[in-house]
Amino acid sequence: MPAFQTVRGMRDLVGEEAAAFTNIISKARETAMLYGYREVITPVVEPLELLSAKSGEEIRQRMFIFKDLGERQVALRPEFTASIARLATTALKNEPKPLRLFSVGSVYRYDEPQKGRYREFWQSNFELLGSARPEADAEIILLTNRLLKSLGLQSYAFKIGHIGVIRGILSQEGVEEKTQNAILQRMDKKEYEEALKLAPNEHCRNMLDGLLKLKSNDCFETVEKIKSYVADCDKAKGAAENLGEVLKLVVESGCPVQVVEPAFARGLEYYTGVIFEVYIPQLDIALGGGGRYDRLIELFGGEPTPAVGCAHGIDRVAIALQTQKTEFAAKIGKRVLVLSVNDALKVEALKIAQMLRDAGAAVEFEVMGRKMAKALEDADKRKVDYAVIVGERELKEGSVMLRNLSKREQTIVPINTLADKITN
Ligand code: AMP
Repeated sequence: MPAFQTVRGMRDLVGEEAAAFTNIISKARETAMLYGYREVITPVVEPLELLSAKSGEEIRQRMFIFKDLGERQVALRPEFTASIARLATTALKNEPKPLRLFSVGSVYRYDEPQKGRYREFWQSNFELLGSARPEADAEIILLTNRLLKSLGLQSYAFKIGHIGVIRGILSQEGVEEKTQNAILQRMDKKEYEEALKLAPNEHCRNMLDGLLKLKSNDCFETVEKIKSYVADCDKAKGAAENLGEVLKLVVESGCPVQVVEPAFARGLEYYTGVIFEVYIPQLDIALGGGGRYDRLIELFGGEPTPAVGCAHGIDRVAIALQTQKTEFAAKIGKRVLVLSVNDALKVEALKIAQMLRDAGAAVEFEVMGRKMAKALEDADKRKVDYAVIVGERELKEGSVMLRNLSKREQTIVPINTLADKITN
């Protein structure tokens, strides 16, 4: 039989790679706790109808869809927001607002695999439901900033925009929603020429083209330029003002927003307000992103509920940390091998192993039945700190042999002081 491989676009994460993931996930969970977000765990498989309701053509076409044995059309979740919106309109319907929810887990998209782009990847996801105010948008951006900072990421930049600017212009030009979505999708992929071609008339095309050129190095200046550019279009002007308010809160609280993108769009269709992404200079891919989606909950049959959220790509954050050589000290206790000199002492050895684990040491028990010298040599190779050798003579005196593997020193240590000796 041939050796099995992972399915294309899916990865095994082993040892340090897995530890890097776990570290990011635990920091995301800590961020959730510090900002008052409650964790929710939702299914990986959801009804196709729910997932395709408002995610956008781009993601709809890339879902892993199948019929289960009960003939239900289902799909692997390509993101968390639809599941959260479902929860908000069912089990959490009567919860007081604001509702702050956190999830973390794997999501699935049939993307073309390349560095930082996989078909199974992990996201940490934060949703804040019930507030339409700029401080809610700012909170989502600021918690993303805190997460990246707490991971030790050195330089990263936020790109921010407002979907209402383009939508406002397009609505004023009478462009129907389907065409608006198609234009935004192209803008998201930076296919600006293609996007402009979809504009229904010359005036609309010129408006969009002009908007694209408003970018300047100063983000507040860009907002001012957008405001005056769309002065005749109430919706777009309101959007630009809202963008300015959120930007002020974010920047003045010390978050590094480098770019305001006048014609910013994101792949998901449900956005209605401020949208953002975060990058590092070394990589041309977003580490995370999100935005405001005020109509999704209502679309799912709930009360009209303004909402804002974001998702961080854990795989990409791991690459970013590696690219910037950000080390993290995995919190593992001292590594210990426990072994007994003969079979009769195995139970005593197991008890000692358990006692050391209770004290926080990472204890491996010798399970290969190897000769002492071989087991010690292997432990030394694998950078285990100590070996605890349980022998008849020492045990009679309530002691064991403790061997410091790197120093190649050994001493007889009373069992009741062993844990202290190893962990301090
Ligand atoms: P989105 O759900 O599209 O807003 O994406 C949020 C984040 O998920 C992005 O900023 C990326 O960090 C990450 N992401 C999206 N697609 C992929 C993918 N195919 N592989 C790895 N990470 C991804």
